[in-house]
Amino acid sequence: MAPSKSFEVAIIGGGIAGVTLAIALHYRNVPVTIYEQAPQFGEVGAGVSFSPNAVQAMKSCHEGVYKAFDKVCTRNVWPSKQNVWFDYLNGYDKKADGHQEAAFTITNSLGQNGVHRARFLDEMVTLIPEGIAKFGKRLDDITEKDDGKLLMKFLDGTTAEADVVIGCDGIKSRVRQLIVGVDHPSAYPTYTHKYAYRGLIPMEKAVEVLGEERAKNACMHVSIVDVPIFLDQGKLTILQMGPDGHLLTFAVSHGTILNIVAFRTQSEDWPDYQRLTRRARREDALRDFADYGANVINLLKLTEENLDVWAIFDLGENPVPTFYKGRLAISGDAAHATSPHHGAGAGLCIEDSAILAELFADENVKTQQDLEGVLAAFDASRRERGQWLVQSSRFIGDSYEWRADGVGDDFKKIESEIIRRNGIISDIDMGKLIAEAKADLKQRLSLPGRSNL
Ligand SMILES: Cc1cc2nc3c(=O)[nH]c(=O)nc-3n(C[C@H](O)[C@H](O)[C@H](O)COP(=O)(O)OP(=O)(O)OC[C@H]3O[C@@H](n4cnc5c(N)ncnc54)[C@H](O)[C@@H]3O)c2cc1C
Repeated sequence: MAPSKSFEVAIIGGGIAGVTLAIALHYRNVPVTIYEQAPQFGEVGAGVSFSPNAVQAMKSCHEGVYKAFDKVCTRNVWPSKQNVWFDYLNGYDKKADGHQEAAFTITNSLGQNGVHRARFLDEMVTLIPEGIAKFGKRLDDITEKDDGKLLMKFLDGTTAEADVVIGCDGIKSRVRQLIVGVDHPSAYPTYTHKYAYRGLIPMEKAVEVLGEERAKNACMHVSIVDVPIFLDQGKLTILQMGPDGHLLTFAVSHGTILNIVAFRTQSEDWPDYQRLTRRARREDALRDFADYGANVINLLKLTEENLDVWAIFDLGENPVPTFYKGRLAISGDAAHATSPHHGAGAGLCIEDSAILAELFADENVKTQQDLEGVLAAFDASRRERGQWLVQSSRFIGDSYEWRADGVGDDFKKIESEIIRRNGIISDIDMGKLIAEAKADLKQRLSLPGRSNL
């Protein structure tokens, strides 16, 4: 099929944002190439869950993205839990028999949808024809040539050209640095003072320690007991015995594996900005969660002896002032890296891809001159929502540990904040968002001289 456009799109980075965008563009007949620093596509061995907005966005990108997800997706196993997002449990429950009633339950129209990240990526990658992805290409710099083409320089000494470059290069995005400048605070993410142990454990072992209901259906083990707290300079400070962590579980790989993420809050800084993960041992996790109840501890005992700890960085302290400059833009974590407490970062990456692809494919977008308008419309459509998610996710992570302003340890308030905020994330109409972005683009493209991008 002959390309429908006279311009070429370069995507830097082949994670969820880059791959979904590449698929969405390719199947809209827009010429696209992905430049990925790694020798091949790859994702970490961990779970990721998607809410209804993400599923809508997958379908908007391309039906194949949704099919890839559907093929590897695991929902809550019990029929009675099909709309349950998470049952919230008291992580401090010390009852010996381990039986736990849910303190409250959060639902949505699709319930919990967990996938093994690597399996999902593997499925999506089959939709990308040979030649579209170039590997071993770590972007270093971008300059503009006399003919208006953007010249990308890679660390392996090679170069490539495109008319527009989309940085899907993740939380430490080089493209973001090129847009805002290396001296701007938003060029670098900051530590949220939370880290997470991530583990995948065989489901049959999880059932032995948790029982069927809690192992096969998503659970959030949070702090629901009275612990001493004191006021420090007007800020709630939790004592060491207090709720400084929470743990979530959901099934992946068609219910054969349980994904665990155990979050811990700390006051110290993360020691090494260059490395956002560090190796730890199971005993470290058990020490961190020593005050928790039997279910949490028994789950952690099932993790591997050597674990990865993930530092939770985000762009919440220093949000980017813009998602684009000229014909460079950022999408996904590069634009709005968030802590994972809403479980929605990847979902918003896919929303970004759907909007961007529809804008590039718009019938009014024909040449290089139209591309800045596309990026301006993308920025206008996406920045507020992306940056809201980053702040809201911080708030929700703090709520789980009684640190959130105006909510504290009031469980009714925590529950209603989760419901309200999850609604903002989930209850979108992707078709409407696309139509609004396209209407905005049309206006921008009709501006005389296009000076007001
Ligand atoms: C513990 C944890 C749990 C999470 N759980 C969920 C969840 O349940 N649901 C959810 O929706 N989200 C979740 N998220 C968030 C989600 O993982 C991210 O939002 C998403 O993976 C970001 O995708 P991305 O493609 O933007 O970035 P990345 O996945 O970081 O991909 C960036 C790609 O760019 C490449 N790259 C980087 N720099 C360069 C360069 N200079 N040149 C070329 N290539 C480059 C990298 O190699 C990589 O392949 C979680 C995050 C964490 C940390």
